[in-house]
Amino acid sequence: MKAKKIETALITAGRDKKYTQGSVNAVIQRASSLVFDSVQAKKQATAGRAQGELFYGRRGTLTHFSLQQAMVELEGGAGCALYPCGAAAVTNAILSFVSAGDHILMTGSVYEPTTDFCRHILAKLNVATTWFDPLIGDGIAGLIQENTRVVFLESPGSITMEVQDIPAIVKAVRAINPEIVVMLDNTWAAGILLPALALGVDISIQAGTKYIIGHSDAMLGTAVANARCWDQLREQSYLMGQMVDADTAYMAARGLRTLGVRLKQHAENGMRVASWLAERPEVAVVNHPALPGCKGHAFFVRDFTGASGLFSFVLKARLSQAQLEHFLDHFTHFSMAYSWGGFESLILVNQPEEIAAIRPAGGVDFTGTLVRVHIGLENTDDLIADLAAGFARIGEAAHRQ
Ligand SMILES: *Cc1c(COP(=O)(O)O)cnc(C)c1O
Repeated sequence: MKAKKIETALITAGRDKKYTQGSVNAVIQRASSLVFDSVQAKKQATAGRAQGELFYGRRGTLTHFSLQQAMVELEGGAGCALYPCGAAAVTNAILSFVSAGDHILMTGSVYEPTTDFCRHILAKLNVATTWFDPLIGDGIAGLIQENTRVVFLESPGSITMEVQDIPAIVKAVRAINPEIVVMLDNTWAAGILLPALALGVDISIQAGTKYIIGHSDAMLGTAVANARCWDQLREQSYLMGQMVDADTAYMAARGLRTLGVRLKQHAENGMRVASWLAERPEVAVVNHPALPGCKGHAFFVRDFTGASGLFSFVLKARLSQAQLEHFLDHFTHFSMAYSWGGFESLILVNQPEEIAAIRPAGGVDFTGTLVRVHIGLENTDDLIADLAAGFARIGEAAHRQ
C-alpha cells in the first residue's frame, strides 16, 4: 500500500483498537501498579516489558503505548521514548550515549538550556563539548575526534534560525565513524515538516510542549530513534527514570489530530507577517527559514515540507531600555512569554550581546535588537496592526529622550 499522506497519518496514528478500546481516541490509563493475574502472566509481562506489554507505570500504560506508536508512525524509526519535558528529552538522549572521557559536537545555535547542560552537567561528568558553526556542513569532519560519540544538531537554530545542511553533516560524520550518534532537536518542524530519520539522523528529539501539545498547557519531550539506537535510548532513559504521566500523553495524542491544520495556519500567518516585516524600514533582516534572508534558506527549500510559526527579525537600531519597554509593554495580541507552539502569538527581544553570550561558537554578526515572534492563529490583520503600533511606539520613545 502507498504510504499515507501526513494529514491522514496524523488522524490514524496510534489508534490501534488495543489502545482505543472502542472509543475514537486512545483511552487514559492511569497506573503505577499493573496487576498480574498469575505467575505466568507476570513472567510474560516481564519478558515483554519493552515491547508494549503492561508491566509497571514507569514503562508506560496503554495511553503511552498509543502515543509512542503514533510518533513512530509519524517520524519513522523503531521506537519513541517519552520524557516529562523537552529539556529532559535532550539531556537524557545525550546521556544515554556518552561515558566519562567522551566528546560531543554541539551546534553553536542550540537552545540555551542545552548549551548550559553541556557546560554544567556534561563538563562535570568529564564529557567534553566542541561547539560548531551551524552552517559548517561537511566541514564537521575536521572536528571529529577519536572519542566523539554524539553530534547534536538543531535546525533551524534557536532564536537566530540558521538552517543546517543535515545530509552533508550526516555523510561527513558517517564517513569518519559510523558509530557516532547523530541527534537532532526537531522541535521547530514538529517532527513532521522535516523527515529527520530519512535524512540519516539517528534520533529526532522534540519538545512536545510546543506544537504537539499546541495549547501552552502541558509539557512533554519525545525522542524517536532508529533501530540502531532504540534499545540503548530506551533502556538508559528508563534507568534514569524518564516517563510522562498518562494524562499528558493523552493530551499529546489529542494534539496530534489537529497538528496538521494548526501548522498550516501557523505557517500561512507566519509568512504573511514575515513578508510584511521584510518591507518595513525599521527591519534589517527577517530570519524566517522560508525567506531568502535566512541563513541556510536553500537547505530549508530542499529538505523541509513546510514552515511553522516561529521566526525572528533584527532591527536596524539597537533599542534603548526606554524604547524596549515602550515597545514590549503595550502589545494587544502579542504576549511576552517563554516557550511557543501554542495557539497564541508571543514576542521576546534580545540584544546582540545577549545572543553572543549563549553562542559559544560565535557567529553573531548583527548590531541591532533581535525580536523573536511566534505567530499564532489570530487574524494576521490584527497582528500586523499590533506590530505597526509597536514600531510607532519605538519612534515616540526616541523623540521623548
Ligand atoms: C522549548 C524547547 C526545548 C525544551 O522544551 P521544554 O518542554 O520547555 O523543556 C528544547 N528545544 C527547543 C528547540 C525548544 O524550543
